[in-house]
Amino acid sequence: MSNRTNLKSLSRDKIFDFIEAQGLPKYRADQLLNWIYERHAASLEEVTEFSKDLRTRLGEIAYIGNLAVVNRQRSSDGTEKFLFGLEDRETVESVLIPEKDRLTLCISSQVGCAMGCSFCLTGKSGLIRNLRAWEILDQILSVNRLIKPKKITNIVLMGMGEPLANFEEVVDALKRIISFIGISKRKITLSTAGLVPKILELPKMAPDINLAISLNATTDTVRDRLMPVNRKYPIRSLLDACRRYPLKPRRMLTVEYVLISGINDSVEDARRLVRLLKGIRCKVNLIPLNSHEESLQRPSDVSVLAFQKVLTDNDMTALIRESKGQDILAACGQLRGRHAGGPEKNR
Ligand code: SAH
Ligand code: SF4
Repeated sequence: MSNRTNLKSLSRDKIFDFIEAQGLPKYRADQLLNWIYERHAASLEEVTEFSKDLRTRLGEIAYIGNLAVVNRQRSSDGTEKFLFGLEDRETVESVLIPEKDRLTLCISSQVGCAMGCSFCLTGKSGLIRNLRAWEILDQILSVNRLIKPKKITNIVLMGMGEPLANFEEVVDALKRIISFIGISKRKITLSTAGLVPKILELPKMAPDINLAISLNATTDTVRDRLMPVNRKYPIRSLLDACRRYPLKPRRMLTVEYVLISGINDSVEDARRLVRLLKGIRCKVNLIPLNSHEESLQRPSDVSVLAFQKVLTDNDMTALIRESKGQDILAACGQLRGRHAGGPEKNR
């Protein structure tokens, strides 16, 4: 397979170049794009609009790459988790979250993560590698293929990895999610731990997608401890970048705040958060910690509600987000890209 071209790794222009190089008419490129992205063809064999001869001829030099679906688990709350095998035997996870009028897929951008946030399981093994654009995209295509005739309506880049640390591939994937898969910018949200220069660059490369910032603390001392990225890009510079993020009318940034007992969940923290976010058009998602070690615990419901009340009393929109899929380790910060039973790889 190694010398053949993976057609899913090609941009639109490259698909046209490829077809032209084979001496084929342009409409063949449109057909190919339609079969891969709309009709979810998983191999050239399935592209029945091409004659058998043409499929065989193209099959000698090209193939349609697919992530392998290694495992699919369903939570009691309807959330589903997919474990995908990559060509080099690494694995990543995506989480499908059905809601009333939408079907959201939470996708991964890296195998592991280099950011090392102390509360997050994905960060524990460090960064293994960046995903290629087609591997980011194919999480969506694979799930769409599995859930036919239903279709994913919303995308959140909140799975494994820090999307802005894999900027070029993520931007390439975003462009193709919008133009090929047809999911509108309004329905795509990218979540970042706060890589400031990339937050400033993102609107030039992928305008009008929704941005979520994982703030998680109100002082640099606490944020330094929870999220080492803060030592490079402290709260003030992160919030400056938020102020500069161009927002269309009626759109808002999302500020994510993982509540950890005794660390960042006091009423003083809530008051500081109100002051910090003044002048930033945003809503706050409060996420009680999904705990996986003794030293960090989720706060009581009473403290979570008290924290929320300070924000809402100050006219802020603040929602408590209970992570879905906890029983299958599909919730925020629980993705590791492994079978529930252990670290074994696929194939
Ligand atoms: N790297 C990006 C996106 C992936 S993490 C980021 O950090 O934003 C997605 C969200 O899960 C982030 O808001 C993060 O703060 C949150 N999260 C991580 N670990 C968590 C945990 N143990 N419990 C609850 N939320 C967690
Ligand atoms: Fe990486 Fe986000 Fe987890 Fe931090 S919270 S380790 S940035 S995936």
